[in-house]
Amino acid sequence: MTDCSSNVPAEHAVLEDALEYSLRYLSALPTRSVAPDVAAVDRLARRANPQLQSSGVNARDVLREIDDLASPATMAMTGPRFFGFVIGGTLPVAMAAHWLATAWDQNVGLYRWSPGPAHLEAEALRWLLQVLRLPAECAGGFTTGTAVAHVVCLAAARRAMLAREGWDVDEDGLAGSPPITVVVSEESHPTLFKALGVLGLGRRRVVAIPTDSQGRMNASAMPRLTGPVILCTQVGNVNTGSCDPVADIIDRVRSSGTWVHVDGAFGLWARATRAHAHLVEGVDAADSWAIDAHKWLNVPYDTGVAIVRDGDASRRSMSIGASYLPTDSAFRNPSDYVLELGRRARGVDVWAALRCLGTEGVARIVEQNCRQAERLAEGMRAAGYEVLNDVVLNQVLVKFGDPERTRRIVRAIQADGTLWAGDTEWQGQTAMRVSVCSHATTDADIDRSIATIVQIAAEEHGPVRYNAGNGSPNV
Ligand SMILES: *Cc1c(COP(=O)(O)O)cnc(C)c1O
Repeated sequence: MTDCSSNVPAEHAVLEDALEYSLRYLSALPTRSVAPDVAAVDRLARRANPQLQSSGVNARDVLREIDDLASPATMAMTGPRFFGFVIGGTLPVAMAAHWLATAWDQNVGLYRWSPGPAHLEAEALRWLLQVLRLPAECAGGFTTGTAVAHVVCLAAARRAMLAREGWDVDEDGLAGSPPITVVVSEESHPTLFKALGVLGLGRRRVVAIPTDSQGRMNASAMPRLTGPVILCTQVGNVNTGSCDPVADIIDRVRSSGTWVHVDGAFGLWARATRAHAHLVEGVDAADSWAIDAHKWLNVPYDTGVAIVRDGDASRRSMSIGASYLPTDSAFRNPSDYVLELGRRARGVDVWAALRCLGTEGVARIVEQNCRQAERLAEGMRAAGYEVLNDVVLNQVLVKFGDPERTRRIVRAIQADGTLWAGDTEWQGQTAMRVSVCSHATTDADIDRSIATIVQIAAEEHGPVRYNAGNGSPNV
């Protein structure tokens, strides 16, 4: 029996099994149903086995059990025709680096704990600043995603804005502090509001600027701002892909000393391209940027990046010390720039992806996905369906008629399994929401998806008409 706590080479068969199951899973992605297998999910839900048994189970049996139980019950998110939310696939080199870093099992909180991976993370951060054309003096840290990157960035913002008023928020808290005005847009992402709540700035205590038909902040509606202000902009609207006019907004608030934060979860990657960089021109004049690597950089979950121009504010809000911690180091301590102390070497996955792609490779993925989004939109228009947004990036909103029919068609597409897309409400209309975000998606995948959508929508069209027993035309 393979003892599950054994770490000697002879007992590593379970790792070979992991490789075998992984390769089998990955090679089935292009042909399996994108949606989880309904029966497999059902089997998991029905498992009447709440008690953990007293004696252990052979490690190889445990892994086989996981593969049998859960692999078919996963969504094929990393496959070529998953277009839900904004997710992204995984480059093989990033997955391999992730595996290797797991074998290292490093705690990369402090430089002196794990100098090698800490150097790789620092290098990956520099490369990111280069690819995204952000100021080289910025500090940064690898987080679990944009949600947490918001918390890290806005903690630095809160600190810097109140320090100017002579208030040390990290030592003395918010109670009794000078008030901070937080400006958002009506289209700010829900994770931004969560971060504001966590930081005591309040989810609701915000000034929300109206947006236009594409979800862009209306810069001319910006009120006159005085006192400490944190202004939160967004590039890459989760429905339309549109970007706030950040350069214009910064021009309007620069003289007031406002801190400008950018939610660039996926949209900031447009800066890596030639064709789409105009959408995010001038964004480098902001003060902080929250981005994801697990979306458009195509590294495995979960990795995002918090980038802050005022590295001192970021470090002061995040760093800790204790007599038992070797925090003294000439080199950057990774945990000084994120929430976690103990943390995995997330940046190694990013290092691998960037090293393998180069600046041109990053641009190629982003541009290819944008072209594919436009191709899909064109296919929908050609079939007579309305595309609700200007397809400026990788997001497409398609309407198939009334809300009920659109939702029914989306459900039928999901059940069919050829591709997966979700639904959404956009400015009072119901739409199918398509996000093209994977290195693995080919033009043939797009064409096959168009054909499937058109066929399913045509089939759904029929019954709706026949069922309209009240005589009302239902188109
Ligand atoms: C995905 C996304 C987020 C949240 O990112 P997580 O990585 O899920 O935390 C925030 N803002 C925007 C615009 C996004 O697309």
